[in-house]
Amino acid sequence: MQVPSIKNERKVKVDFPKFVPEIDTQDEKSWFWNEGIKLPAIFVPLWQLLVNENVLSNATSKGLHDYLGFDGKILLSTVMQDEFIDKLKRQDYFQLITDLRPDATMVPDNYTYTDVPLYQSWTQTIRLVTFANDFLDLQLPVIGLVKGADTHQIRWALQKQIEMGYVSFVMPARELLEQRLLEGFVSRTLDVLGENRNVNGLDWQLLLYGVAYRIRHEGVSYSNLSWFIEAKHEHYFKNGRFYEMGDPEIRYEECHCEICKGRMPQELFDTGFECGTSYIRTLTTHNLLALTNSFAGK
Ligand SMILES: [Zn+2]
Repeated sequence: MQVPSIKNERKVKVDFPKFVPEIDTQDEKSWFWNEGIKLPAIFVPLWQLLVNENVLSNATSKGLHDYLGFDGKILLSTVMQDEFIDKLKRQDYFQLITDLRPDATMVPDNYTYTDVPLYQSWTQTIRLVTFANDFLDLQLPVIGLVKGADTHQIRWALQKQIEMGYVSFVMPARELLEQRLLEGFVSRTLDVLGENRNVNGLDWQLLLYGVAYRIRHEGVSYSNLSWFIEAKHEHYFKNGRFYEMGDPEIRYEECHCEICKGRMPQELFDTGFECGTSYIRTLTTHNLLALTNSFAGK
């Protein structure tokens, strides 16, 4: 195994808001800025561009800002399925990032399963660190990745990225959540970040990617597409969870967000008569604002 040497040191903080919505590049109903809602940043998943030739050629020729018509910060998410991870080489990433012109990108994702022999996940972990070193050549802020099949791998990969000057980190969390490993892994990660607080003279930041609910640890940011996916299933967010629209818990509760303006969830249906898609749009935007407030502790 060859461990990459450290090329240079760079300190670029991305400054995540408490909640960074992920969007669906193929479904304009998730492009909430068209509804007059301003948020500082979004995550755009790279894999979604790769599965649709038209979207990809449009986005790469115009750049993501023009393609989406969004003037906030665009953060490129590299979290993707294994088959894409295996396909993309260094030069593919560099070309895509040059053409898409996001404001920041994650280090390429890897796969580290907890149920395969450890040498496989170590190979992937070394690949992650090698990519992190390569990505220092990019002329934009880069977000480190917190991944590993166990806490040793997480600690090692994180330590290496800190030594390279990384300060903003994303932890893909959906699988860990399903395996009930998330809280433990976040604890270890915050330990490592805390131990290194003075190494680069900057405060670290950690964002959990793919989590729709607050975990017990304070001081982390969140990103998910749940606000949109759940709305498509007609689920309404309130006080930390999603409800069926007819649930008596929420049905008669007025919401005073800038979309609902005092209406009850059942009254949001009314907008459906004005225009076929506006009901889901209203619900989507309510969910987005409610999740943003929930992660901000409001
Ligand atoms: Zn509302």
